[in-house]
Amino acid sequence: MITLQDVRNAKKRIAQFAHATPTFSSQTLNMISGNSVFLKAENLQKSGSFKFRGAMNFLLSLNEKDLKNGVVTGSSGNHGQALACAGKLMNTAVTVVVPEDVSIAKLSAMESYGAKIEKCGRTSTERLNRAYEISKKDGAIFVPPFDHPWIMAGQGTIGLELIEQLGDFDAVLVPCGGCGLISGISVAVKETLKDVKVYGVEPEQSNSTYLSFKAGYLMELKNISTIADGLRTAMPGKLTFPVVQKYVDDILLVTEEEIKRAVVFLLERMKLLVEPSGAVTVAALICGKFPLKGKKVVAILSGGNVDLFALSEWIKEVKQRDKDESKSFRSV
Ligand SMILES: *Cc1c(COP(=O)(O)O)cnc(C)c1O
Repeated sequence: MITLQDVRNAKKRIAQFAHATPTFSSQTLNMISGNSVFLKAENLQKSGSFKFRGAMNFLLSLNEKDLKNGVVTGSSGNHGQALACAGKLMNTAVTVVVPEDVSIAKLSAMESYGAKIEKCGRTSTERLNRAYEISKKDGAIFVPPFDHPWIMAGQGTIGLELIEQLGDFDAVLVPCGGCGLISGISVAVKETLKDVKVYGVEPEQSNSTYLSFKAGYLMELKNISTIADGLRTAMPGKLTFPVVQKYVDDILLVTEEEIKRAVVFLLERMKLLVEPSGAVTVAALICGKFPLKGKKVVAILSGGNVDLFALSEWIKEVKQRDKDESKSFRSV
């Protein structure tokens, strides 16, 4: 299991590369949730998500000989973008295996960092198998998206940064996919602050961490359909899950509608562009899923890479529903 010292070392390692992202607060959000809320804006991190921290820490932990043949991963999104960005800074060749139906926006972001792109299949299994193949053939090092101590420690640097920025706090809400993010943050804050609580947040329609957490063993999902594409993971990792079991207090679930509401709230009220995976924490706060009141609470906004066509649809949907509801209210 990773230690607080691992996270501290990662923080020193990536300090000159990663942004110390700001935290924001809003009176409206405080009023709606009944807490004093601070939003950690990792949507403003390099490459557009916190995944840059883990990817950068991974590359900086390799020696020159390891880096010589480059690195490879399979990803449809933020991990690929983060690794491409980190590789460019380190002058390391990066290959990303992406699905055939990858969005143009993501593809061009990865290409702009100079990554080599290979298209393969549609499922994460196909992508990862192809990435392993490339790793074997070219001697490139495989970089996993969450289930590795260097990745977990890199993501955990957010926890130490929060303590520097805010001092003590009562609780932190963290989105859960494969649980690299929440495991790293848990180690950092639970080993530093006395009474802090850590809550994971997951979409109802992609709830493998919730199911595994309640069962006490890893549960794999077959059918996943959520707009939160960074959280479409079939199950938590073999290394991340024991950390979740040790430190996490509870997992909260949010609906697709609540996620869209949170994305629109962040954009309209706080002027923050946050992707669905990054907005689940705010969804839990504004839709009454968070159990505490009167506390100092941090919500992680994990990323901001969002397809603007999809976003424009969600905005229309949420605004139309608001309008219909206020009409039917007035006519009562
Ligand atoms: C990957 C990702 C997550 C989930 O992180 P895990 O370490 O897999 O739990 C959450 N939000 C965004 C934006 C992501 O890209």
